[in-house]
Amino acid sequence: MEAGSINVLITGTNRGLGLEMVRLMVEGSIPVKKLIACCRDPDGPRAEALQTLGEQHPDIISIVPLDISDICSIKECAQRVGALVGSEGLNLLVNNAGIINRSPLLESSCEDMRTLFNTNILGPMNMIKEFLPLLRTAAESSKISGMSIRKAAVVSISSLLGSVQNVTKTYENFSAVPYRVSKCALNMLTTCAATEFRKDEILFSLLHPGWVRTDMGGNNGLIDAPESVQKMFDLMASMTEKHNGSFLDYQGQTIAW
Ligand code: NDP
Repeated sequence: MEAGSINVLITGTNRGLGLEMVRLMVEGSIPVKKLIACCRDPDGPRAEALQTLGEQHPDIISIVPLDISDICSIKECAQRVGALVGSEGLNLLVNNAGIINRSPLLESSCEDMRTLFNTNILGPMNMIKEFLPLLRTAAESSKISGMSIRKAAVVSISSLLGSVQNVTKTYENFSAVPYRVSKCALNMLTTCAATEFRKDEILFSLLHPGWVRTDMGGNNGLIDAPESVQKMFDLMASMTEKHNGSFLDYQGQTIAW
């Protein structure tokens, strides 16, 4: 592998923050060798911008189908990615794909909770489990000491809304109970992974991207995707073992659990 360049997989890359991550990564914001850009329907009309990027950077980008709510899809994706990265393994997995439900408690059904959990929790959990062998390969073959995204890391995109200590400040304007609960669980999942895989020197971290103007964030968001992603990339690039199990916003501030 070229010095400093890494193999990266990002979920949910056909729009929003995921698409911006692909765009900035191929521009060199993070030196990348192979970029596996995953999305549910790579050939569909909602993936046209991603397809164009893929055609412009065929040596770097591989677009691979992935529905993170479907374990068979995750297993198939892991097989394809294993063949793509070979003995180098996967250095960085970004769990970005997610869905939202804005309902308050009384309007949140069991089905709503199951749907949010399938994507926002079981998705990242199964991604970690199925891609662990490729992350371990990258960690074991790395000559870099300590933890970093240049070695092996999983960065999961969480939300300030998953912070228990911030509920009273944000609830009145934004209840989103199923979403909050799912992101809170993602935080616990990541903390457990950070502890369980510390011995493998795989770094696990959570980032809140800010309130971003995407389909999910809406037009009233405070920042645009390029600003959010560039700042998250700067943070990712600076991560060391001190960041294992951390929960930061895009500006590098620690968010209370
Ligand atoms: P968008 O709604 O704009 O994009 C979501 C992406 O996730 C799409 O590419 C979508 O693909 C994909 N996705 C959804 N479900 C699945 C699935 N089952 N399998 C694969 N891909 C899936 O959201 P953002 O880009 O704004 O959000 C990205 C992440 O950032 C999310 O985890 C979100 O919770 C988090 N976040 C966003 C904030 C914001 O203000 N925007 C604030 C805090 C956190 P498809 O087109 O197929 O639906």
